[in-house]
Amino acid sequence: MSSRWAWIGFFLLTGLPTNGKAQATGVVIEEWMSKEERSDLLEKALALKKSSKLTPGDQLKAQLKNPLPGYVKSPTPFSAPLDPVLLAKRAREIRLWIMALYLCPKCSHWHLRDLVAAYPVAPDVVATCAHAFDWAAQLKPEETPKESYLLVVDCQKRLLGVSAVLAANSVMDAALLRVDPPNLIPVPLNDQLAPGDRVFCYSDPLGQLGYFSDGILNRFFWRPERQGEKGSLEELAYLRVNFGTDWAPGSSGAPILDQCGNVAGHVSSIHPLSRPKENQQPAQEGTQKSASSDDSSNPPLITVHEGIPARGVMALIRDVNERAGETSSPPPVSPRGPDLRPRLEDPSSSKP
Ligand SMILES: [Zn+2]
Repeated sequence: MSSRWAWIGFFLLTGLPTNGKAQATGVVIEEWMSKEERSDLLEKALALKKSSKLTPGDQLKAQLKNPLPGYVKSPTPFSAPLDPVLLAKRAREIRLWIMALYLCPKCSHWHLRDLVAAYPVAPDVVATCAHAFDWAAQLKPEETPKESYLLVVDCQKRLLGVSAVLAANSVMDAALLRVDPPNLIPVPLNDQLAPGDRVFCYSDPLGQLGYFSDGILNRFFWRPERQGEKGSLEELAYLRVNFGTDWAPGSSGAPILDQCGNVAGHVSSIHPLSRPKENQQPAQEGTQKSASSDDSSNPPLITVHEGIPARGVMALIRDVNERAGETSSPPPVSPRGPDLRPRLEDPSSSKP
């Protein structure tokens, strides 16, 4: 008995035995930007604005309805599984932040505002949530800036300007933005996944910076309002996926990686679901019939993480490229919608 307590005491003092990776040399220790770093970033953003490399927010807003023509050259998916430690590193490297640079109507100073996460799908194109554009609409009229711009920041705090909207689909909650300079290293999208596949998420849930979690792909499903022809962009805008990774407000737009480091989808929303009360219909797919946290008589029983699957984003890319007259590379989309091809038929499958 006494020796067991001695061991517990030993672990409390020294930490549990590990494989030595937890604080290996070169491991990033997450820390929010300091005030100085933040004001340095603001200065860089204002310099970009001065060089006319940024497109004004009202023009970007107009492009949500009439996107500019463009071409998205996305890479071929990786097929070799990666060690989760490498995946965490890659997830951190590819995660981008969309920020708004705006002239504050209250104090007449320029501010930066963090909006959502994003990821590079081509050297000059990032994918993110369409709800990234909702930020100004949520402000009070007296707080609404007359002048604003969008920027992209990478993990090394390098800034890129958002120069155009190439696609925005609010039903899908996905958008493709062109950035300048065009020097991103794109990450492939993979729509050849199935429930049970391992997935990973690196994001900032509720302000918890750089939180890496894993889980499995839980399921694909259609939102109940689904419409449009089979396999069309209109139909695929209603396709959703649940992932078992951890996320919360603050994670929006973050890429979910498969075990090879491809993007399986991105974070869109979260729904805590509780047992329906008497005379209440059960929550439908995608609706936020959630128990609020102060309703202790009806606590949430399950929290579902709703993502936009890679197949939807790929359909958006295909649409951009078709509008540009590029039809040479048909994407590997099954005509059966979300019922994925059997794994054995999938030549890109890397499963043993
Ligand atoms: Zn202000």
